[in-house]
Amino acid sequence: MKVRNYADVTDRILEALRKSEHLTVWHQASIAPSSYPLYCLRWTAQQKSSPLIYVSAGIHGDEPAGVECALRLIELLADHDKHNPFPFNEYNWLISPCDNPYGYERDIRENAAGLDLNRMFETPTLCPETAFIAEALQRKQSVRVEKFNSNNTIGEKAAIELALDLHEDCDSNGFYLWERRTSQCFPIGNVIVKNVVGLCSINQDSLIENHRNENGVITLLDKVTTKGWTRGRYLAEQVNTRCLILETPTQLDWETRIAVHMIAIQTAVKYALNHLC
Ligand SMILES: [Zn+2]
Repeated sequence: MKVRNYADVTDRILEALRKSEHLTVWHQASIAPSSYPLYCLRWTAQQKSSPLIYVSAGIHGDEPAGVECALRLIELLADHDKHNPFPFNEYNWLISPCDNPYGYERDIRENAAGLDLNRMFETPTLCPETAFIAEALQRKQSVRVEKFNSNNTIGEKAAIELALDLHEDCDSNGFYLWERRTSQCFPIGNVIVKNVVGLCSINQDSLIENHRNENGVITLLDKVTTKGWTRGRYLAEQVNTRCLILETPTQLDWETRIAVHMIAIQTAVKYALNHLC
């Protein structure tokens, strides 16, 4: 049974696209069985060399606050002339706001084939939804990997500098996150939790899904494989990007969950890209 209408999502995407020429469709596909259009949007900052951030949501259809937050982020960017409390428009963004329309409409975790899409990234081409995601990310890789000169060293600049995957957890009594990074990469999960504390309780369980939880942060260092082939692992191994997977408690009220995702995104951008830790 449908509990939400994906057309409401696409209407808001198209309206935002009409409003701003900085916002474009980066990648688009239509998937069976109901010909759902999938969108990955690109926001291009005035300063084209600004860092690129990837935000994704809704790969699990029963986690709608992430989808709403991603849509509001798109709308904030499209309305960037209005006063925004945080300069989101100064960064480049790839936003994939609703990756499982079938599940989203029916409030179920899986897609139409009954698959948990966030375990399908070993061979993403097996599902139209994960094929879409991988194509959008690889497209980015192929055209944007560039050389840069900093501190007299030449290196490969990662195309996507930060990825945020927005999830929810119906079993959790508080916010927590998974921080997937290399051991050389400084941690920022704890500062995100610190910024969320005023809005929402933090999950203090010592173990979540058999992983050690330290005050709302589960660290997945280097090539951890215990979670299977998630998008986070794909981003780490195939795209070389640090990834934060944010989890709001579904039992909390709607607006608070969206606000928690937004403040977590804002904090992550601030600290990951400006090296404030
Ligand atoms: Zn999820």
